[in-house]
Amino acid sequence: ERLVGSVADGEDQAVEAALRPKDLHEFVGQAKVREQLDLVLRAARTRGAAADHVLLSGAPGLGKTTLSMIIAAEMSAPIRITSGPAIQHAGDLAAILSSLQEGEVLFLDEIHRMSRPAEEMLYMAMEDFRVDVIVGKGPGATAIPLELPPFTLVGATTRAGLLPPPLRDRFGFTAHMEFYEPAELEQVIHRSARLLDVETDAEGATEIAGRSRGTPRIANRLLRRVRDYAQVKADGVITRDIAARALAVYEVDERGLDRLDRGVLTALLKLFGGGPVGLSTLAVAVGEERETVEEVAEPFLVREGLLARTPRGRVATPAAWAHLGLTPPQGQPG
Ligand code: ATP
Repeated sequence: ERLVGSVADGEDQAVEAALRPKDLHEFVGQAKVREQLDLVLRAARTRGAAADHVLLSGAPGLGKTTLSMIIAAEMSAPIRITSGPAIQHAGDLAAILSSLQEGEVLFLDEIHRMSRPAEEMLYMAMEDFRVDVIVGKGPGATAIPLELPPFTLVGATTRAGLLPPPLRDRFGFTAHMEFYEPAELEQVIHRSARLLDVETDAEGATEIAGRSRGTPRIANRLLRRVRDYAQVKADGVITRDIAARALAVYEVDERGLDRLDRGVLTALLKLFGGGPVGLSTLAVAVGEERETVEEVAEPFLVREGLLARTPRGRVATPAAWAHLGLTPPQGQPG
């Protein structure tokens, strides 16, 4: 449960519905995706048909669920939400598909985690709007074809490359969601602040945006923690100073690194002179599991250009020394 984690926690789930943009105009950033999707949806509306299947790829918290709801809203269609891991058997998928209404949007989160038989059923459903329901077992089993109404599948995945090509190819449109620019996150923060009825000045929003790791979900979460601080310790207004003081309490630094991230970097710099050092050795030094360092801390450090994974081990970049205010030893590239 990290304040800067990108996966939704219980509190996020409780408040996110209220903060979700309802149409493409309200959706901040992702200009290319918005423009392309707008065309896809307009064309479908003109034809009076269900929109093509859409694949959304991108990290958690960038707005995939939100976009799927917007797609349904723009098509004036109902939406059904489920996820790959929730579909254990092909029968689970058949039950969902056969109960869809014409034009309905089926949002399948984590589509790369669906079972193999369900995936194969989905191929046919996407292409021919038909499924074969298998009745009976063994040599006596028979396939009963079932017609489906035209529907729009919106699949979401953290990496489109994880999908088998036959599945990927059945999407008419694929959108890659990028991390957001700080200026875009500022817009998200101003919008959420309005909806939450908190006063935020421009510099306060900038301060929060810079620590939000390019992710609207994190921006909204940090905003809520800063709001608490502003209400308890000040007059409720979020300024740069209030945001910085609040996030110092939560140990989220000006670049969005938290205690764990800084712990990994500090060990790499102070104990191993900036590396190269093996992952296991680094993990022991930080007092964390290998997986935690590799999967929880490193991806963001690598993305930020603070740490590099090399064949000889983990290496700190010059930016890492600068960020922690340390001087690299003589002879180091930093
Ligand atoms: P997950 O993969 O974990 O389901 P996600 O990519 O589906 O994440 P969402 O649940 O859609 O992310 O978005 C998380 C939160 O961020 C929502 O509360 C939403 O309001 C906000 N958000 C996401 N994208 C935008 C955006 N472009 N503009 C404004 N708010 C956004």
